[in-house]
Amino acid sequence: MKFGGTSVGKPERMHQIVSLVSREKEPTIVVLSALSGTTNALVEIGDHIAKSDRTAAKLAIDKLEAHYHAFVEELLKNPATLSKAKNILAEHFEFLNIILKISFSEALSKDILAQGELLSTKLFCTYLEEQGIEHALLPALEFMTIDAYDEPQIGSIKIRLSQLLNQHKEKKFFVTQGYICRNSRGEVDNLKRGGSDYSASLIAAAINATVCEIWTDIDGMHNNDPRVVKRTLPVEQLSFDEAAELAYFGAKILHPASIWPAQTYKIPVKLLNTMQPSAKGTLITQDAGSVGVKAVAAKDNIIAIRIKSSRMLLAYGFLRKIFEVFEKYRTPIDMITTSEVAVSLTIDNPIFLKEILKELEPFGSTEVDHNQAIISVVGNEISQTTDIVKKLFGSIMNIPVRMVSYGGSPHNISLLIAAEHKGRILQQLNKGMFGLE
Ligand code: ADP
Ligand code: ASP
Ligand code: MG
Repeated sequence: MKFGGTSVGKPERMHQIVSLVSREKEPTIVVLSALSGTTNALVEIGDHIAKSDRTAAKLAIDKLEAHYHAFVEELLKNPATLSKAKNILAEHFEFLNIILKISFSEALSKDILAQGELLSTKLFCTYLEEQGIEHALLPALEFMTIDAYDEPQIGSIKIRLSQLLNQHKEKKFFVTQGYICRNSRGEVDNLKRGGSDYSASLIAAAINATVCEIWTDIDGMHNNDPRVVKRTLPVEQLSFDEAAELAYFGAKILHPASIWPAQTYKIPVKLLNTMQPSAKGTLITQDAGSVGVKAVAAKDNIIAIRIKSSRMLLAYGFLRKIFEVFEKYRTPIDMITTSEVAVSLTIDNPIFLKEILKELEPFGSTEVDHNQAIISVVGNEISQTTDIVKKLFGSIMNIPVRMVSYGGSPHNISLLIAAEHKGRILQQLNKGMFGLE
């Protein structure tokens, strides 16, 4: 059971988690995110320190510390556990204050980011202790590892986690941190923003769990982005493929990589609402339930690159050479379309853009469009649904489309548009594809 930021962000929510876990008959591993707002605050603190703005960093640390003091005062009633919680706060905020005095490094910034999940889990365990609930804290930094390419090492995660669980054979309530891990250099690292979902799925896979429940602040995967579109509805059932496409193409409710571990080990995933536990939510399994369009999602901050070359005409090996450039800079390509003399592709990682463009020069002329968005329409076998294209383009007739990707996956049709049209296109698709206004 994974609980996200808003699900642990208030003392009463932590109380609620205990009542949800207590209903379970099976042994349960609870994966916690940081309290809502904490990781953002830690990012801000890291940024201030990186810019050597110690005054701003100190102010942000003090503000966060005050927030946590108010939190524990409300969470705990017993003077002994309250004083224990205050010692935990002292330890972690002392660490942040020490960091202020030493020179900044990338590794240190990861240490700063890890404080959120370390704090939420320790405070939650203090609350369990106050309630007299038997439990064990499984430190994620002792089992969650990534390799030199930032890929989780499921084999060793399995071994280390089962060793830890073996030390607590009599217990059935376990708590661990989402998001944080150790990298190939042994340093503290993380699974990128929103990574607690990924932790939960990896843990579920590693222990061959009966189910992986993602508890959040909404009643499942909705048919459209509720942050952008007013009327959206939960989708009852999704296949792993559909859920993976939605997560990858921008449905924030799931970390982009969070489906593959559960899918590989065939573990059902449920998306549930902590604030409304009786709501059905979304069930994600091998089986899609029904055919047809299920949801649309949007992925922001996309860069489109067009490479034009007459040498591409009737040539073979051209695409391989282009792909090799992206491989060299470990920059994934999301969408690709080709014509006889040009290829357009998209990336979302701008770090090596300059180097990539330089290395593409010998292949032809390049054009770059920033501020693009990928709109993905996802559903089981939709590319085989006869009227889908008519319906899709009929809904968005007045919006210019830069690229179309159809048939790459039978579950996804993607469009590339200028980001400024995102809101309008999601709204129009809501009406045209789902009849919702
Ligand atoms: P948590 O802190 O629990 O991990 P997140 O904020 O990461 O929660 O994810 C839940 C949020 O995802 C929702 O509040 C909602 O605004 C957003 N979201 C974006 N797209 C979707 C979608 N298609 N269905 C449901 N939620 C979505
Ligand atoms: N706390 C981390 C974040 O805000 C991880 C997570 O919430 O999943 O990105
Ligand atoms: Mg999240």
